Amino acid sequence: MDLYSGYLNKLIDELAALPGIGNKSAQRLAFYIISMSDARVKKLSDTIVAAKKNVHYCKICQNLTDTEICPICASDRRDKSTIMVVETSQDLAAYERTGRYDGVYHVLHGAISPMLGIGPEDIRLKELMNRLKDNGNVGVPVREVIIATNSSLEGETTAMYISRLIKPLGIKVTRIASGVPVGGDLENIDEVTLLRALEGRTEL
Ligand code: ZN
Repeated sequence: MDLYSGYLNKLIDELAALPGIGNKSAQRLAFYIISMSDARVKKLSDTIVAAKKNVHYCKICQNLTDTEICPICASDRRDKSTIMVVETSQDLAAYERTGRYDGVYHVLHGAISPMLGIGPEDIRLKELMNRLKDNGNVGVPVREVIIATNSSLEGETTAMYISRLIKPLGIKVTRIASGVPVGGDLENIDEVTLLRALEGRTEL
């Protein structure tokens, strides 16, 4: 016997399928949504649809953006010869919050994980390699690639893989210092730790 209505069950199922939301949270959110005014529910659903429709990957760095080229890549105040490679847009945001990095980024949208069956072709690595071979896609030769993937097993595997691909191109490859806690997501780390990791980077 279903305890709830079919519509409510469907909503709970959809919410529970989102990352980090268990069945209990999904139920709580579903009940809350039902209690909201029609106008607020419409605003929420419209916002989801609009974000999905208008947010895409920056043509150069693969960061999520509303424009063809993101504001960081489009800025002439950023040093296009230094590219920091991060796993996610949230990691990029964490480094931006420090306000002390003036290079540009490349967002992989994941990390290599043989255990989860995620290979090099499943992350935005091809785009990075094309970018490096084509003067950063902006006519500026790339002098340094800073690999700032997480210090988890997947992050380290990805860092090693990328450095082996880049070195033959004659571009300097560095890795952020291991001041970042093992397995810790970059976005949850404070700015001082991030800056220390960046300043203490070593050549691979
Ligand atoms: Zn960009």
